[in-house]
Amino acid sequence: MLLEHLERQLATREAQGLRRRLRVAHSPCGPRQLIAPPDGSLTAKLVFCSNDYLGLAGDPALTDALAEGARRYGAGSGASHLINGHSQAHADLEEALARFLAPHVPDGRALFFCTGYMANLAVLTALGDAQATLYCEELNHASLIDGARLARAEVVKYPHNDVQSLDALLQQARTPIKLIVTDAVFSMDGDLAPLDALLALAERHDAWLVVDDAHGFGVLGEGGRGSLSHFGLRSERIVYIGTLGKAAGVAGAFVVAQPTVIEWLVQAARTYIYTTASPPAVAHAVSASLAFLAGEEGERRRARLRQRIGQLRAGLAAVLPSAWRLGSSDTPIQPIIVGDNATALELAAALDAEGVWVPAIRPPTVPPGTARLRVTVTAAHDEGDVDLLIAAVRRAAGRLSRRARCEG
Ligand SMILES: *Cc1c(COP(=O)(O)O)cnc(C)c1O
Repeated sequence: MLLEHLERQLATREAQGLRRRLRVAHSPCGPRQLIAPPDGSLTAKLVFCSNDYLGLAGDPALTDALAEGARRYGAGSGASHLINGHSQAHADLEEALARFLAPHVPDGRALFFCTGYMANLAVLTALGDAQATLYCEELNHASLIDGARLARAEVVKYPHNDVQSLDALLQQARTPIKLIVTDAVFSMDGDLAPLDALLALAERHDAWLVVDDAHGFGVLGEGGRGSLSHFGLRSERIVYIGTLGKAAGVAGAFVVAQPTVIEWLVQAARTYIYTTASPPAVAHAVSASLAFLAGEEGERRRARLRQRIGQLRAGLAAVLPSAWRLGSSDTPIQPIIVGDNATALELAAALDAEGVWVPAIRPPTVPPGTARLRVTVTAAHDEGDVDLLIAAVRRAAGRLSRRARCEG
């Protein structure tokens, strides 16, 4: 029964163009990667899909830091943080992260997590108890949605970037504790949440602002401090979540907030307590990454990244057919919104045939009718790489629209 049930569901997804498939990478993350598709042979692809925005994931300096961390602390942590898994490497990293974010979350303390997914579940379940209401932005990342589902709190969804609606909803609050929960950079659109207006609302309504900065940390703001720095915000009411597997190039995540908030997470967050601490070497490598982000080379890479973003936007704007739309984004996430699933898949396939990998993103990851190619650009791409992508999109768009005219 189970297998038949699953086979039927898989067939439905296949028919709807929603079946996902794994590809195997045979080289480190970077603009050019050796990729084996499910039923093809190993090919070098020009990749526009990673979240490795500064090109750090394959950087020898971080690989060396990871290796040095492993030599010093071993391969594994051996236990959870509350048993004997919390190493000096973890503790040092937490101190460095709290200092790094101190201009924006004053007197904060940091807590390191294995993944951003787990950090988000931790924050929403531990803070979202029966006394609380979670005000969740409708385009929040799946991990925040799941955290809200698991929380005992009442959950209220507000429309995308709609500060007025949120204001009205906060006025009707029925619980003493209110938490506004939002992505800082929306992961499928690349636009920014109006964090300044949201913080002002939080202050006015005695609420807290929970910010998931997975795509802003390392990329935006002074020294890569992220979205709070970009907006010039500073408040004790902020619970800040940054992830370390994207621009920071390694793995893991952290929460920075008031020490009482962090102390409560240590007591109550099940994704912190009931899991083996990540290898200390990972924390050691992240510390190296943090120094890199804040240093001159981090600044240079962010400048290069901004150049590529500008080049990509200008180039795509000139070649996209009128039925398609470029997202309004100044971040490395630059979606080409084409509408239906089939067109998104055909466009992705046409690019793939030219050796360019951009993933098609379909519902339920994005709202129905907004299937898209999620282009991400990094500081490791050079000008020629971006030109290649623009030319490939122009050719694919031409072919697809000629065919649409023939069929129509
Ligand atoms: C990637 C992502 C996460 C999850 O972080 P991981 O460390 O990859 O688990 C959380 N929130 C957002 C917005 C993300 O894009």
